[in-house]
Amino acid sequence: MDYKIVKDNRRKKMVMSVSNDGTVIITVPKWTRKRQIDSFYKANLGWISQRRKEIQRHRSEFIKLTDRDIKNLKKQAKAVLTAKTIHYGSIMGVMPQSIKITSASKRWGSCRRLDGTYTICYSYRTMFLENRVQDYIVVHELAHMLHFDHSKDFYKEIEKVLPDWQQLEKQADSYKDYHIY
Ligand SMILES: [Zn+2]
Repeated sequence: MDYKIVKDNRRKKMVMSVSNDGTVIITVPKWTRKRQIDSFYKANLGWISQRRKEIQRHRSEFIKLTDRDIKNLKKQAKAVLTAKTIHYGSIMGVMPQSIKITSASKRWGSCRRLDGTYTICYSYRTMFLENRVQDYIVVHELAHMLHFDHSKDFYKEIEKVLPDWQQLEKQADSYKDYHIY
């Protein structure tokens, strides 16, 4: 049987975890018998394989991107997000002077204003988001052309176009470190 044992006197029950490399770690109270640990391990085999699969899937989502991948993602982002910006911009009655695709890793999008002209930037990383969440990011940035803040009026503009915006914003913000500006 394949696991590591960690003895912990403060524990009253056995606890199992799977580390990132797939190793099973069983934390046990000091005087636990080997036989008990073995049967605990066997009883949780299903859970272990499920955990390993989850770790594997999680890892594949963080594959290191090559320069070529990034170049392709930027091209894709430009096409997809320009189309969405035109679509929603015409509904909302605003259109930025330019759209830029960035490599920003802390923000999905941003809206800049200079001498009355607007530039909207989107991170190519938005291509990893669901379609509807991308919509939200586009509508959010466009709404900044109507209200250059995060006021109630600002969100009212968003709500007119995307009534379920709160759900979508939560989804966008659920990725660690990423925000919408
Ligand atoms: Zn914002």
